[in-house]
Amino acid sequence: MKCNICEQRCEIHFRGTGRCGMYTADEDGIRERFPDRYLAAVDTAVEAMPMVHYHPRGTFLQVCTVGCNFICPGCVSEVLTDHIGAVRGQFQEMTPDQVLDRAEETGCIGVMFCFNEPTVSFFTFRRLATMARKRGLLAGCATNGYLTEWALSELIPCLDFVNVGIKGTAPSVCRACGIQDAAPIFRNIKTVFQNGIHLEISAVFRKGQEKQVEETAGFVSSLSPDIPFQVMRFLPFGKTDANDEPTVKEAEALCTRLGRHLHHVFLFNTPGTDWLNSVCPDCGAAIMERGFFGPMCSNLYQYRPEGQCRCGYRLPLKGKIHEETLPRTSGYFGGYRTVNAMSMIRSILGVLGVRDKGAVDAVIAEAIRTDLIKDLYQRLNGITAYFNTVDAFASLTDTQDRAALFREYVGSRVTAIREGAAGTEGPRVYYSLGHPLIAMFPEKMESRLAKEAGGLLTNQWLPREGRPGIMISKENFLAMAPEIIVVSDGIAWPGEDFAAFCRQRDLDVPAVRNGKIFHLAPFRGATNPDWVLGLMALANRFHPDRFCFNLEKEAERFYATFYGQPFNHGQLLRFPWEDR
Ligand code: SF4
Repeated sequence: MKCNICEQRCEIHFRGTGRCGMYTADEDGIRERFPDRYLAAVDTAVEAMPMVHYHPRGTFLQVCTVGCNFICPGCVSEVLTDHIGAVRGQFQEMTPDQVLDRAEETGCIGVMFCFNEPTVSFFTFRRLATMARKRGLLAGCATNGYLTEWALSELIPCLDFVNVGIKGTAPSVCRACGIQDAAPIFRNIKTVFQNGIHLEISAVFRKGQEKQVEETAGFVSSLSPDIPFQVMRFLPFGKTDANDEPTVKEAEALCTRLGRHLHHVFLFNTPGTDWLNSVCPDCGAAIMERGFFGPMCSNLYQYRPEGQCRCGYRLPLKGKIHEETLPRTSGYFGGYRTVNAMSMIRSILGVLGVRDKGAVDAVIAEAIRTDLIKDLYQRLNGITAYFNTVDAFASLTDTQDRAALFREYVGSRVTAIREGAAGTEGPRVYYSLGHPLIAMFPEKMESRLAKEAGGLLTNQWLPREGRPGIMISKENFLAMAPEIIVVSDGIAWPGEDFAAFCRQRDLDVPAVRNGKIFHLAPFRGATNPDWVLGLMALANRFHPDRFCFNLEKEAERFYATFYGQPFNHGQLLRFPWEDR
């Protein structure tokens, strides 16, 4: 039987499944395998979708299921899609009325289906959106736009807002995502626009793929230059090449070019950029100011009343600006924290030698069942806690010998560094979360490792507000007077770009003057199990008179011991063994 929901048009055999794994065929035709079952249904600001010019700060009930009809490399939801078996136990069955009751109880003005692809839960979403319309609530979704004309026509009467995400237009990019070409997506964008549905576009920007984003922007501007256009600076999640990530400078230059044809261009996944603001196309003043709030999310913190510029220009907003404060996207199952936590579990299981998908699924399911997943992030933000967490996973998988090996191997290097750095006066070290004026929180693993390596962490002196990093003023930056700056995101902010930014803004500190700005790549110093390589790299930098770890050899040894493969400079993969 042919599935007519998306342009994959899968042939589904009796009781089989199609490409997305979410539909099956039986005597009654094509049907959903998990109807009315949601992975999450929580109240969240619309900026989490992301939307920028639709009911800004409005609270919507965000719903999601699992699965996708694409297989894009680097998808942030890949880990959820890959482990449907593990997360199934988290499904909550709710009728449309129950979902909408929850929306009303939590003060939401509507529902939005995002985080995974609504196409794979088409009938569930259609029922929900139809009922929302009947109850006077708004309904929208974020989609890859690969629906058939029939499926889209079924949704249009009940849709209020849509964000269509474009992965790319080149045949190679389409093939990598598992589709033939992007033509149906552009067809659907036009249909959505012509039907008066509020439309925003997000386009992934990978290094060197400016032309594809420009082509997409050209098409969008031919519909209307007022359609908000969100450039998603590619972040290398999952099994992707870290070198595909463009620098911030490249991404901002692209936005400048796009801004010649479109009135409202935004840059996401880029802490500290001014390109998240809504700017007046007439006089250039910022009308709405936003900050980075995690991958594909922003936080509107300041705005002109009713989105009107001093010069009189009014932003083409749909809906009013709401009083709500921050998007509440973290801390529930199904958000980015969950995705990150699942990635961390996979990486820990990797060093324990547990790579069979069924075994990994079983551990993830157990971590979900026992709520271990909820505080995993905190549990991995310290060396002792890290060892204990590895032990906990080892006892779940009967791999205590591997955990002991990890503890012994990593512990011996930690001890050597602690002893070597003891009694020394370390250099003043500022750990930046990419952008020069965004500081890493001092309790993060990265910051702790900088201290372990004998640095005097200046981040601890900073006043703090917001998340995920601390926005700092020029005065605070100068007061820290760091002798060394460690940049956590060296790909987004290469040393020379970072230094150039500091010089332009008179951020004159010893580290900038003396060229002591560096990042850890190809080593890492966060919550992945190979953080010990980053720790050794930091120790070499902070105390060259005391440490001279042969990092190349250490990396080769670590990878051979725990991943059973050579260390690979070019590809900083989250799960190295999966690339074999
Ligand atoms: S919705 Fe799923 S089963 Fe249907 S055509 Fe698309 S990928 Fe295939």
